Amino acid sequence: MSSEIPSRIPATPGEIDRDELVLWLNDFLRVEHYPDPSLNGLQIEGTPVIRRVAASVDTSLKSLQAAADSGADLLLVHHGLFWGEPLAVTGPHQRRLRTALMADLNLYAAHIPLDAHPEVGNNAMMARALSLEQTQPFGDWMGHKIGVAGHLPFAQSLQDFADRIQKLTGEICLVHGGGQPEVRRVGITSGSGAGAIAEAAALGLDTLLTGEPEHKHFHDSFEYGVNVVFAGHYETEVFGVRALAARLEEEFGLPWQFIHQPTGL
Ligand SMILES: [Zn+2]
Repeated sequence: MSSEIPSRIPATPGEIDRDELVLWLNDFLRVEHYPDPSLNGLQIEGTPVIRRVAASVDTSLKSLQAAADSGADLLLVHHGLFWGEPLAVTGPHQRRLRTALMADLNLYAAHIPLDAHPEVGNNAMMARALSLEQTQPFGDWMGHKIGVAGHLPFAQSLQDFADRIQKLTGEICLVHGGGQPEVRRVGITSGSGAGAIAEAAALGLDTLLTGEPEHKHFHDSFEYGVNVVFAGHYETEVFGVRALAARLEEEFGLPWQFIHQPTGL
């Protein structure tokens, strides 16, 4: 499918037909591959030609407004507006939709496909930033491995590893030191990935890097003997949308900007 698409893309550099871009994104991200109820793909249809892109982790009134104010024709997000439940067009949901529609702004969401993507995915990007070696798929989500596991080039103390993560994200990590004091074999599951502790233990990993802590997994770290570094749901998921937007610039010459709206979670 992807081999046919480039010939249909208009030759004008710096702009692209929206439907062509959506086809390219759906194909590149393999959105059909994942049984993800979060309606990956074009969630709101806006202007038919894309010249400027904005990227954001979340869809909120503020991110939609900021994208519209920046002159973007398309907002790329990791967390879209739809999560598998019918949703009345009232209250905040109505105001979000109205903001996008009034601005003729397209909204494209890539949730699980953007965690899992081997090139621009949240987990692949973090694995690359940490120079993980001998990487392999890790982190089961409905029968799909959407995270990454691998070895650090050199063992380092859990404290040094956490300091590296803090430098990478700019935020303070929460560390549960249930495993050995040296970090070498690491699994990465962005966002709400604390459920992967048992899988990390089974794979012989000493440390799991994930986003958001969940109370029900507190004892798992200590009883499975796996360190867990919680770097924040938001902070572990800025990587994918930024890399995807950068890829669009590379591919189609579309300028982009990141709309940074940290949640602290
Ligand atoms: Zn998430």
